[in-house]
Amino acid sequence: MKTLEATCYFHQNRIYVKPAEGTYEMIYRAACGVYWDEEEKALYFLDDATNYQLSLKHIVLAMKNEYYIDLIITNTFMQCDCNERYATEINSITLFEELKVFFGRKTANGVFIDERPTKPYYIWDDGSGHIEYFADKWYRCKSCGCLWEFNYPDFPKLGWVKKYEDGNYTGTDICIYQRKDGTSALSEI
Ligand SMILES: [Zn+2]
Repeated sequence: MKTLEATCYFHQNRIYVKPAEGTYEMIYRAACGVYWDEEEKALYFLDDATNYQLSLKHIVLAMKNEYYIDLIITNTFMQCDCNERYATEINSITLFEELKVFFGRKTANGVFIDERPTKPYYIWDDGSGHIEYFADKWYRCKSCGCLWEFNYPDFPKLGWVKKYEDGNYTGTDICIYQRKDGTSALSEI
């Protein structure tokens, strides 16, 4: 098996892998969900495009299977450092500004996706009234798949950053008063 250097980069919401030489339009025959982009002269994985590690794995495998080429990806710019970062309370303007810069930079580099929060962090329901509060931002990491919740402070109310490692949001805090008919708003979420 021949080895070939390649670089990975972010393009059109996907990770692309560009081999140092050659064209590989028959790559689809490896049946790994990997395709050749003639304009970019690069390979990409079609299915779960937001998962970078999975994309790279499939692309490397497809090149082995179809072309007997062992791709050596020489850059690691997409690797995240989510493992070394933790949830935090935002108790100062300085920290808030730092976090905004951090998330902004990760998004600009294509490591994080800026998502609209689709689940509230707080639900209050007494049967006649229903209130939901949503965080300001969600960021999904394309490298490891984790989800970050970023809620801005409104001093003296503190903000926070929370991490959901498997990418599923489970942070909803629910305050329910049971209704007279025995139902609760919980069943409607
Ligand atoms: Zn990550």
